[in-house]
Amino acid sequence: MFIGAGAEDFAAAQGLEPVAADFFSTPERREQLERALNSDEMLLDHDGAANSHGEDPLDPDRKFGTVGAVALDVHGNLAAATSTGGMTNKQVGRVGDSPLAGAGCYANNATVAVSCTGTGEVFIRTLAAYDVSAQMEYGGRSLQQATASVIHDKVQELGGSGGLIAVDAHGNVALPFNSEGMYRGFARVEGDIEVAIYRDS
Ligand code: ASP
Repeated sequence: MFIGAGAEDFAAAQGLEPVAADFFSTPERREQLERALNSDEMLLDHDGAANSHGEDPLDPDRKFGTVGAVALDVHGNLAAATSTGGMTNKQVGRVGDSPLAGAGCYANNATVAVSCTGTGEVFIRTLAAYDVSAQMEYGGRSLQQATASVIHDKVQELGGSGGLIAVDAHGNVALPFNSEGMYRGFARVEGDIEVAIYRDS
């Protein structure tokens, strides 16, 4: 795991092209930050605000920005990836759950691949992604049981909001969340493709 100058050196050594920090600043995100600064909050998901923002299905100021992916290949390999910009108006130096293996992201060929989104601090405290795997490995729980327990019991009890996507070693898929919505989808080689945003969609 690399951070800061060491991460930049590593990226350069791999031949990645560096860009200045302002490359990532867009007018929309800048406005979002201004709104968060004015209301003096770090923006979290907010169920009540769903559907209240014009054409965006979820309030763009109050949805998480994480992109996650999980996969099972034909050889039985499980993989998970999680990428986030963190939360808008987060404290300088804050590290969320997304880059922490076991918290926001985890994969183990024996059990499951998991990628999380939501209130990072709670996903760190619960080791949410690893807990799904541990419940399956040590507790004999199914993917559905383990993922529901993590999101609807453990994360919920600590006041966390968010969800996860997971695929197990048998190709079962679970996409639970306790927020109003979570942009999600899955596909199988045989052709099943599903996408959804809200809880009942
Ligand atoms: N989990 C991320 C964080 O806490 C936020 C997100 O899911 O977008 O930084």
